Order: sequence, then structure tokens, then C-alpha cells
Amino acid sequence: MKVFDGHTDIMADVVTRRKMGEENVIKTHHLHKLKSGGVTGANFVLWLDPETSVWEEVEMGMKLIHDELTAASGICHLVKDKEDFGFGINKEGIDVVLGMEGLAAMGSNIERLEWLYGQGVRCASLTWNEANSLATGISGDETRGFTSEGIQAVKMMENLGILLDVSHLNETSFWDVTQTATKPFMASHSNAYALCEHPRNLKDEQLKAIKETGGLVGVNAVAAFLHPSKPDIHHYIQQIDYMVELLGIDHVALGFDFCDFLHLDEQNPPEEVHVTTSLETSVHVQNVIEMLDRKGYRHEDLVKLTKDNFKRLYDHLLK
Ligand SMILES: [Zn+2]
Repeated sequence: MKVFDGHTDIMADVVTRRKMGEENVIKTHHLHKLKSGGVTGANFVLWLDPETSVWEEVEMGMKLIHDELTAASGICHLVKDKEDFGFGINKEGIDVVLGMEGLAAMGSNIERLEWLYGQGVRCASLTWNEANSLATGISGDETRGFTSEGIQAVKMMENLGILLDVSHLNETSFWDVTQTATKPFMASHSNAYALCEHPRNLKDEQLKAIKETGGLVGVNAVAAFLHPSKPDIHHYIQQIDYMVELLGIDHVALGFDFCDFLHLDEQNPPEEVHVTTSLETSVHVQNVIEMLDRKGYRHEDLVKLTKDNFKRLYDHLLK
């Protein structure tokens, strides 16, 4: 079954490797894994270190990403309008929805959102984990939420047609969003706090508030968000079951956030990488589908979970 992944940092790898002079990064390092896992589309986000990044890095990152997409044309299809979505699902290739993971580098110059939209950005979160000029992430002051510029940014994103991502916001910011947003939004890669008490995960009331907007939650495969000591694919399935029970099948999707390719320093590999057993990379995505199928999930529900819920959202928001 073909799958749209709600969150991948592959563009971070593209930018890092292209800066070192490599070309065809997706074809060389990622395509075989995506294909073997049946991943035919994703929100491909650009993450930059919020503590150090400046706007020129965003401009450079976008240039390198577009160089990559041009070299990979025929494989990667940039989704800009609603009719673009589903090319990878219906034909050979990968749907690339371009996104920003955090907008710290923008400062409070929210008109830069228009430039990002012109670059093809169609989803974005306002913070990674930090407090910035727009909003507050999970590592910021828990009583600080959105700034007035952040509220304006949400309105501008809705007008432009950029899907808002609330993963990484702290709770105060989260509830500020619910006061501001008038369109559906997503938590592209977050789990249920009720099953795993991690600050990146969402309380039941937050999950239900996302459903109320018509939005969705992408279930995350990152080990720490599934289990504190021995995460495996069964914890991922439990998260899906829990959210489908709480929200209904229309509001749950997959947002794997695979990190297998982010340890670029091959000379100094991390001593211990905390991974989710049997769900380490895109290659294992079909294991999830098979397990859900065996549990009795109906085919039409699996289609919603794996791609149609995202299609519904982008059909609603894109021009
Ligand atoms: Zn993230």
C-alpha cells in the first residue's frame, strides 16, 4: 500500500550533502528506502538550528533544495496546487510537499512567508522546540505562548495556503493556536501523552482540539516518543489504535520522522542510538500496514490513514 509520510527531515540531509558538493542526494541515499517501504509522498521539511540560523541560510537551503528537485525531476514532484497532490500515489514518483520545521530565522518579518510560499512551501511550524519571535516550543517558558506576530503569521499562512503544523509547540502556544486558527491544522509528528509521557506528545484534550478543526495527527516513530526504554513497532501500533479510538480514523495519519540518515559524522558515530525496533527506517513502513491489516483494519480505513486524510487536508487548503 502506498504511503504519504507526514514528516521527514530528508531535506536537511539534502542541504548538508549539497553543501559538501554532493549531487543527486535523494536518488543516491534515500530513494531506494522510500521505494521499498512504499512511501510515495511526504512533507519534506527544512530544519535549521534555531539558535544559530539566519535568514540567508533559509534562502541558501531553498536554493539547494530546488537544485536537488530540478536534478530529480521525473522522480520528485513538487506539490504546489491541489491537483499536484497524489502524483506519486497515482503514478511512479514521490510527492514532495515542501515545508519548514520552525521559522526562527524569519524573526518577526512575517512577510517572508510570502517568499517561502513562492518557493513552494506548503506546510510549516512556527517553532522547533525553542521560544522565538513568533511562538514558544516545548523547551521555552511554559507560560509563554504566541506573540502578536505569531498570531499574524497564522492568519497569513491560512490566507496563502500553508498548512500549520503544531508539533513542537508548548501547551500555552497550542491553546493560543486554537483561539486563532480558522482552518484545519495538523500535528504532523506527535504521539499521545496518555501512552508515553514525553513533552513532545499531546494530551487527549489537545488531540481532540485538532480533530475539532478538521485536522489530523501524524503518529511518530521516534523511539523516545513511543517508550522510555524499549520501544518497538508494537508501541507504534498501540499509538495508532489509541488515536483512532479517540479521534476516529479521519483524523489520524502517519508522520514517521525517521532519523536514520541524520548521523552524518561517520567518523564519530553516536555511542548508542535509541531506535524503535522493527521500525527504524522507511524500509519498514509496510510492516505497520501488515500489522494493522492483521488486526482487522478495513482496507478503506487503511487508505485514509496512509494517504487520503492528508489528501483531504491539502485539497481543502491548497489553491
Ligand atoms: Zn520535529
